[in-house]
Amino acid sequence: MRYLSTRGTAPIVDFRAATLAGLAADGGLYVPETWPTLGRDSIAALAGLSYAETAVRVMTPFVGDALNEDELRSLCEAAYGRFSHAAVTPLVQLDHDQWLLELFHGPTLAFKDVALQLLGLLFERFLTGTDKHLTIIGATSGDTGSAAIDAVAGRAGVDIFMLHPMGRVSEVQRRQMTTVLAPNVFNIAIDGDFDQAQALVKAAFADRAMADRYALSAVNSINWARLMAQVVYYFYAAVRLGAPERAVAFSVPTGNFGDVFAGYVAAKMGLPVAKLVVATNVNDILHRALSAGDYSKAGVQQTATPSMDIQVSSNFERLLFDLGGRDGAALAAQMQGFERDGVLRLTNAQREGAAALFTSERVDADEMTMAMRWAAEASGQVIDPHTAIGLAAARRAATTVDAPMVTLATAHPAKFGDAVERAVGSRPTLPLRVGDLFDREERYTSLPADLSVIAGFIAEHATPSA
Ligand SMILES: *Cc1c(COP(=O)(O)O)cnc(C)c1O
Repeated sequence: MRYLSTRGTAPIVDFRAATLAGLAADGGLYVPETWPTLGRDSIAALAGLSYAETAVRVMTPFVGDALNEDELRSLCEAAYGRFSHAAVTPLVQLDHDQWLLELFHGPTLAFKDVALQLLGLLFERFLTGTDKHLTIIGATSGDTGSAAIDAVAGRAGVDIFMLHPMGRVSEVQRRQMTTVLAPNVFNIAIDGDFDQAQALVKAAFADRAMADRYALSAVNSINWARLMAQVVYYFYAAVRLGAPERAVAFSVPTGNFGDVFAGYVAAKMGLPVAKLVVATNVNDILHRALSAGDYSKAGVQQTATPSMDIQVSSNFERLLFDLGGRDGAALAAQMQGFERDGVLRLTNAQREGAAALFTSERVDADEMTMAMRWAAEASGQVIDPHTAIGLAAARRAATTVDAPMVTLATAHPAKFGDAVERAVGSRPTLPLRVGDLFDREERYTSLPADLSVIAGFIAEHATPSA
């Protein structure tokens, strides 16, 4: 499989290069040249397969000859062997036709583990035997940092530098990062806020000499391999609920549009998807885009669902590209207008294409709380605030969708214990395997929010690329 950039001018690359690069050289995002399809028989044959084996069948066409099938299988078994539930992503029934797909049984209790555990192994596999060395640098307000650190800790050929705003992530989140003591992990507590941490990372990438010398790489969800890994659980869940005979709908708590775009890819591959519900909190740029064609920036409001507090959704570009006839030049012009003015109008083709599969719901704090209570009362399920946004949207959308409705449960409730306790009156406990988090040794370096200091620290500890 070959990958092209949404902005049309970067060279076409294979799976290996798309994975290692993350962003394309023209500022666009990589997408497969064509959507591979799985026929009805191939989908039916997924019934009863393990999660890892389902992953091999779904991902093989995207990987192409970058890995042979046995290599891909051993990476999937290693990545998903680290999950604490044998089903990896188990389904839980809430009522007659509402379901949860629990994506939080990975090492850091967030759905990002599903993709990042595989990505860490892919990095290592693609770097072994070359003289290339990769330096991942990122800024985190909590969840992505711990999932990325866990995924690359101890792996050959790659170092990770993760900046978090000092004193502004929860203690659980900080400890999930700082108690990882592998020698290739560098946690930096920045004396500043998240925006300053992120600005430092952007400045490091903009320093071409530094970016080239250390082969700087990013792990946010613009990386195609992350999306590919997320397509798998749509197949896994739908087959268990009757696909390919029966169509299934999904409700997805959405921020950067990565998770729900993976559902779009599953539909493109032939999975019968009745509807994709894009669930947003009050930061509703995607709801405005999908319901009124108006994709325009607004200030970010802080909510109980921080992973959905976004101003722009990077992966939406991939959908606009695909629905706009895959015209790189037109998409580049559309995105440049957005970067300049903060406003983008969807074309009629983009609006109609999106409406065929997507619907969107904006969910406020009261409805989120009510969804948490309903889940507890209807079926004894304790859910996290992000999942609750998805469930509230799912229940609203269910009145117009005639199919089983699956809400993606994106975080373990114990990660957001305060919000859960406020809503349902009791505090979820951390699962046993992370229960000793508060007894483990921590290691991190506190630095000022100053690029030259950060660059000096990286130069001291990173390995230059070949
Ligand atoms: C990252 C995240 C999301 C949003 O996923 P996107 O792929 O960015 O849309 C939702 N919930 C949780 C808990 C997350 O960590």
